[in-house]
Amino acid sequence: MTLSENTVHLMERRARLLGPNVSTFYEDPVHIVRGEGVWLWDAQGRKYLDCYNNVPHVGHCNPRVVEAIREQASTLNTHTRYLHEGILDYIERLTATMDDSLSTAILTCTGSEANDIALRMAEGMTGKRGIIATDATYHGNTALVSQLSRSNVPEVGFGLDQFFRFAPAPDSYRNPDETGTLFADAVAEQIDALNKTEHGFAALVVCPFFLNEGFPNLPDRWLKPVADVVRKAGGLLICDEVQSGFGRIGTHFWAHRKMGVVPDIMVLGKPMANGHPVGAVVTNADTMAAFRTKFRYFNTFGGNPVSCAAAMAVLDELQDHNLMAHAKDVGDHARARLNKLQGKYDFIGDVRGSGMVFGAELVLDRDSKTPASDFTDRVINEMRQRGIIHSKLGRHKNTLKIRPPMPFTKDNADMLFDVLDDVLANTPLTS
Ligand code: PMP
Repeated sequence: MTLSENTVHLMERRARLLGPNVSTFYEDPVHIVRGEGVWLWDAQGRKYLDCYNNVPHVGHCNPRVVEAIREQASTLNTHTRYLHEGILDYIERLTATMDDSLSTAILTCTGSEANDIALRMAEGMTGKRGIIATDATYHGNTALVSQLSRSNVPEVGFGLDQFFRFAPAPDSYRNPDETGTLFADAVAEQIDALNKTEHGFAALVVCPFFLNEGFPNLPDRWLKPVADVVRKAGGLLICDEVQSGFGRIGTHFWAHRKMGVVPDIMVLGKPMANGHPVGAVVTNADTMAAFRTKFRYFNTFGGNPVSCAAAMAVLDELQDHNLMAHAKDVGDHARARLNKLQGKYDFIGDVRGSGMVFGAELVLDRDSKTPASDFTDRVINEMRQRGIIHSKLGRHKNTLKIRPPMPFTKDNADMLFDVLDDVLANTPLTS
């Protein structure tokens, strides 16, 4: 592939200024200079349909969010050591969307920080340090939390890996009859293993929609058996809703509700303030009190008035435009289009998703279900050349990952699938 002069120049600058091994999307990285709604423009003025980015939840450069930031930034921005209603009003409004027990929050700047706090809260409450996660997940980048990624195991880590154990991530395509009991058994096994160490068992941390794992199609209440196992063992359930929350799955504002559980601790991030850096840990009053007493936690930027204004504007937009119902409607249409493509192409093994997260697993043949990982990669790169931005994920990186900003319409979906149809028809399965 020949890259443009501009791309080569920027890649060289990045390598020099950011260091090596800094990832970009695509063989031909995109140089984006502007965004609006579900659209992005590159430096040459070319327009792309954004079918990937969940951070600009209510649309790129959403005018209401931009105005909320401008207004608060031109009035005051400080931190939480001064009194301010912004953070209180926001947490009241946020927790009103949740179960009554989830009534207090710490605001952070990233999902990683929020997960880091959640793990420490679990330690504070249980006096134990052992954490269980799935073996195909990602929960963030702090020294502690990065140990939760089996797919990208850090080469150094202060020996923190001793606190972590892993259970196989669910795979609804290869184990369609799994009702959640096998996962519960696998977690129980890891709890026993941790209890044989000095660390004991503190918590299970999962994305309730298993988004990074490839968002398997799981029946409602699927997490109930594992939640019972965790609680019986005296541990806490942490639901990382960084990707699955804020109405994305269309049927429920929070994915844990679909899965039939109420977490002890919930972690939020990405879409929370439409790109302004905001994350949160939400929990019950007792867990918060234990954490606040044991750790004197302060976060200079977390919960600042500008961040809270941006986050509040996101909730306003979701509510005023009924974006959760819209996500369900558009998502159902998108999956119907994917199902049609599956009828046409044997290599589409499985169609998945709920609401504004959908995709398909691509395989070399449907009997062996062998992942078509290289093919998926070529499809993604070709789609980018055709002006459609999306990606891939899952254990084998062979699941098309389509997770657009929530204002994405059925017309947008039709454009995406028309192009995808053409790309699938013209990309050889094996190179
Ligand atoms: N949890 C999940 C489920 C995530 O997908 C991510 C980021 N991809 C994080 C946590 C970390 O969030 P951040 O990058 O804001 O630290």
